[in-house]
Amino acid sequence: MNLSKLYIDGQWEAWAGKTLPVHEAATGDVLAQVPAASEKEMKRAVAAANTAFESWSESSLEQRIKILEQLHAGLKARSSEIAEAISREVGMPIKLATQIQAGLPAAITESYLKLLPQFPFTEQVGNSEIQYAPVGVVGCITPWNYPLHQVILKVVPALAAGCTVVLKPSEIAPTSAYILAEILDDTDLPAGCFNLVSGLGQVVGDALIRHPDVRMVSFTGSTRTGHLVAHAAADDFKRFALEMGGKSASIVLPDADLKAAVKGTVNNCLLNSGQTCTALTRLLVPEDRHDEACELAAEAVAKMTPGNPLEETTRLGPLASAEQRDKVLDFIRLGSAEGATLVAGGPEAPEGLTEGYFVRATVFGNVKPDSRIAQEEIFGPVLCVIPYKDEADAIRIANGTAYGLSGAVWSGDGEKARAVAGKMRTGQVFVNGGAFNPLAPFGGFGHSGVGREFGKWGLEEFLEVRSLQL
Ligand code: NAD
Repeated sequence: MNLSKLYIDGQWEAWAGKTLPVHEAATGDVLAQVPAASEKEMKRAVAAANTAFESWSESSLEQRIKILEQLHAGLKARSSEIAEAISREVGMPIKLATQIQAGLPAAITESYLKLLPQFPFTEQVGNSEIQYAPVGVVGCITPWNYPLHQVILKVVPALAAGCTVVLKPSEIAPTSAYILAEILDDTDLPAGCFNLVSGLGQVVGDALIRHPDVRMVSFTGSTRTGHLVAHAAADDFKRFALEMGGKSASIVLPDADLKAAVKGTVNNCLLNSGQTCTALTRLLVPEDRHDEACELAAEAVAKMTPGNPLEETTRLGPLASAEQRDKVLDFIRLGSAEGATLVAGGPEAPEGLTEGYFVRATVFGNVKPDSRIAQEEIFGPVLCVIPYKDEADAIRIANGTAYGLSGAVWSGDGEKARAVAGKMRTGQVFVNGGAFNPLAPFGGFGHSGVGREFGKWGLEEFLEVRSLQL
């Protein structure tokens, strides 16, 4: 697919300037080149979105629903192309990429199609009519790990709210954003409502978050960049929503089925080779079950055969970039240097996989709660097993990082598990392996985020409130 182009004001523009290479995670080969656009292109995109806002903000709900129906049909039709592109760029095994990377964006779009007819865009409170109005031009900045899913969680509710959008996708995994732009180009969405500008975060991302006509920034990515976004937004009183990193804890209570809890935690931790913001990367076990938990974790990771993500049998793909692989390997070396016990994996490349960005699934035991590998987001296939003394100690350790995105509790007693979950300072908790729910709000406490995505909470992020006193 030719990615050497920008989508501004309803037009594809060929790009002849500097480009950035997109790599195949399993081989390191260059798959495509995307524009390294400049502030000039970003300014044109924001101007187009600003002009389009005048009429799109006045569009009817029926018109918005029609566009989302067309988008939903397009996402379904191009599902296998989306899955393959993301599997190549990010490294997620194709079977999972089909379900999650391609399936979730269509499911989220469908959830908004169901929600919109019931959403109260006006409400009556006493003598007042409360109106929910679109916030304005929205700048969307997204990461590479679930590249289309992150984009859809912003673009769909923003357009549904009557906002117009400028998207700056990740330069590491951009193909699905181009597919989205092609799909939207084929819908009846008016020109300028959706714009796509590729390039470096420090250049076009920075220009987007500082532009005075951008009235909201919706960002997903690292806590480091989220900090820059929050500062730039505060300077101009823009609204902002931030979805950032995590260091989520899985608490196994003494009465839990240890085998099921360890298996569930390992599978969650290794999803997308650990490149998941909600990954359960800290397994908290009673100290007298620590060694047994480590053995079970080692058995579970041994089943995660690494290999080419395009093969149906692969359970563990590579990481998305050389930079990410090297960062994860440094953390693995650090774990041993900090005195943790290496139970499985390690810094050597998996056997026979010397090309591409592969890292072995790694488990550390006897990890100290305040060590760096237990505090910092690694974003790779690395699990830390941490022993705790009693329930209060487990909750203290779980809440003892700057993050608060996800978590899990396992217990033979459902009520007990819910009570412990209610003490976790985190945006979502999986109780005894409860299923992911795309209608429930998603977001973080503390350094994991500001605001919520999914469902009505995700829509409300893009709405201002106006009261008419009658
Ligand atoms: P990143 O912060 O490096 O980049 C994210 C986006 O920000 C990219 O598009 C990048 O180009 C842009 N950017 C970089 N510098 C910028 C700047 N100065 N100004 C404006 N934009 C800039 O993050 P990443 O490495 O792409 O993604 C991994 C991170 O994302 C992890 O920390 C992960 O936890 C987080 N994440 C969070 C969620 C969530 O929902 N909470 C979901 C997925 C990923």
